[in-house]
Amino acid sequence: MVRAAVIPAPNQPVQVREYPRPKLEEGAALLRTLFSEVCGTDLYLQQGLLSETPYPLIPGHASVGLVEEVRGQVCDTEGRPLLGGEMVTFLDVHGTCGRCWYCLVAKASTRCPHRKVYGITYGADEGLLGGWSQYVYLKPGVRIVRLPESLAPETLIGAGCGLPTALHAVERSDILLGQTVLVQGTGPLGLSAIALTRLRGAYNIIAIGAPERRLQAARRMGADVCLDVEKTSIEERRAAVMDATGGRGVDVAIEASGNPAAIQEGLDLARDNGRYTVVGQYTDHGPVQVNPHTQINKKHLDIRGVWGIDYSHLHRSVLLLERYNDQFHWEELITHTFGLEQANDALAAVRSGQAIKAVITPWGAQAEEV
Ligand SMILES: [Zn+2]
Ligand SMILES: [Zn+2]
Repeated sequence: MVRAAVIPAPNQPVQVREYPRPKLEEGAALLRTLFSEVCGTDLYLQQGLLSETPYPLIPGHASVGLVEEVRGQVCDTEGRPLLGGEMVTFLDVHGTCGRCWYCLVAKASTRCPHRKVYGITYGADEGLLGGWSQYVYLKPGVRIVRLPESLAPETLIGAGCGLPTALHAVERSDILLGQTVLVQGTGPLGLSAIALTRLRGAYNIIAIGAPERRLQAARRMGADVCLDVEKTSIEERRAAVMDATGGRGVDVAIEASGNPAAIQEGLDLARDNGRYTVVGQYTDHGPVQVNPHTQINKKHLDIRGVWGIDYSHLHRSVLLLERYNDQFHWEELITHTFGLEQANDALAAVRSGQAIKAVITPWGAQAEEV
């Protein structure tokens, strides 16, 4: 039997359930999970805040582990076959069709209506399709990425889903060398956005977030100025940003907070003819008031949304981890480790903001805090 942590229905505590070990179909593989991430999105899935989610749900959309079993030929994107025993991660997005209007005409595969996501839009009734499980069933067509030998699984999961999502957001933001960038939110997504903005050649990076532990991480990832959202007023933050930008506001603001109130502030802190990229509102926390005249039209502001990732974002994230982890140390973002039985504690640690990154180890029972 395979043990997995399951959200039975919205607003119910996570339970550990047992499932039979799956038989592989042709082209499928079985992953023995070493680590799976606890993401802010998992909190919101537990609260029922994403309309497409089927329950019961095995959460966990970023995972790393060993290939346990392969049926038939399964290759990576370099055409190398997987034989078993390799350390791999995989793209949580599956089923993007490559045939529909969004895939072919709009070239916006993250909006493909056939797209499904492990741990988010595949439910437990469809199989072991989430990472909070001892094994994950990798369906035919799942994009599997080998970890380079120098890349530890802890580093990969420390970066988690935040790094490829931040990569997508930073590229959508078209940051130019020497620009000043504001990152709202210092959770794992915001922290990776700060690191990639640094790599992108920003002149000055301002971070708004909390608590202090996350702001310290923001400094390590490359933020020049950190503003504690819990200890400063909106006027004080505005004064600090204007002070740093000659009274104009930032060239580019990236919202990575998940809090709708951040949108009102971000619209005001981006400069005229600047850019505002919204990536933190993956789940629905309701509307906010915006003044379209002063905050958008008169500002000549460029606003961009970012939905999900495609394979390229994950593939290049693994390369960036191999090349730049000496500079950023993504594994140091992991502050808490939990077994399947402590999944509710894992969610609580993320909810309180005490954890920067919590991970689930489906084969280990011991909770650990660093
Ligand atoms: Zn996530
Ligand atoms: Zn499609």
